[in-house]
Amino acid sequence: MNYIVLDLEWNQCPSGKAHEDRALPFEIIEIGAVRLNEAHQITGRFREIIKPQVYTTLHFRTREIVALRAIDFANARCFPEVAADFFSWCRDCGESGAEEACKPEFCTWGPADLTELQRNLSYYNIKSPFAFPLMYFDIQKIFSIVYEDRKSRRSLEYAIDFLSIPKTVAFHSALSDAIYTSLVMQQLEESQIRENSSVDYFRTPLVRKEEIYLHYNTYDKFISKLFVSRNQAMKDPVVTSTRCPLCQKAAQKKIRWFSAGSHNQFCLAWCPRHGYIKGKIRLRLNADNMTYAVKTLKPIKEEEANLLFEKKESVKVKRQSHRNAMRD
Ligand SMILES: [Zn+2]
Repeated sequence: MNYIVLDLEWNQCPSGKAHEDRALPFEIIEIGAVRLNEAHQITGRFREIIKPQVYTTLHFRTREIVALRAIDFANARCFPEVAADFFSWCRDCGESGAEEACKPEFCTWGPADLTELQRNLSYYNIKSPFAFPLMYFDIQKIFSIVYEDRKSRRSLEYAIDFLSIPKTVAFHSALSDAIYTSLVMQQLEESQIRENSSVDYFRTPLVRKEEIYLHYNTYDKFISKLFVSRNQAMKDPVVTSTRCPLCQKAAQKKIRWFSAGSHNQFCLAWCPRHGYIKGKIRLRLNADNMTYAVKTLKPIKEEEANLLFEKKESVKVKRQSHRNAMRD
């Protein structure tokens, strides 16, 4: 096992979003990481500051958060060199022989770090060393699943306080945040981490054969190829299909897909063996404004199915009154 807990600090355009380089909204200025063993104890550390090339002065927000000053960058190396060293450190887990034994598995606090790391690699035309699809462990999400309501997303400091972990160093340095994230992991069971993997959305499937099917304990997840529009995505039979997560048989719809809010679609399906299945599709845009769908299918109880019938009704009523108002 080779867990790499990663944390990045980044800078953004100091004169505001209007002047930013669209290909690199967040420029990485520090990489911090720790390597963990099976007991989630730290066996190695990586930390390096990176000299920014695109935004050479710090945005005021970055200055507020990050403890780095201009002088820290004076002798720093540039991103391509530091990234190369970082990835060779990731692969060098000390196990001799099999490369498979050293395959890094990345853990982060929140979904942003691996996405921004790939965006920075892509900006410099560096070939991505990541597998496709890139599976990782979002410890912020897992903290919510294990200790809270699955939906809330807390700051790292909140989690450290919640778990009564002593705060020995300041937050918001890449290395200290990686260490704190690993301390949260020490409180978690290995199974709680492994059963709740996440998929990174920086690189999504381009074509049908790359589409991603994931099976979790309580639901199935599907990530589609790209479509030119939301409408096209919702016309696709693979996107809109509903299979029972428990037996993988086609489940007939009780409520067809309907939209609630601008990005979410819901449906209700029925498996004769396993009962109601709630379908949800989130339509997302990639960096090139192409649409892809993230579908989850989850067995639910009758009460939750009834809520879905009500939701569908309320959407219909809202639409009707909107139409009436337009006519008047
Ligand atoms: Zn079934």
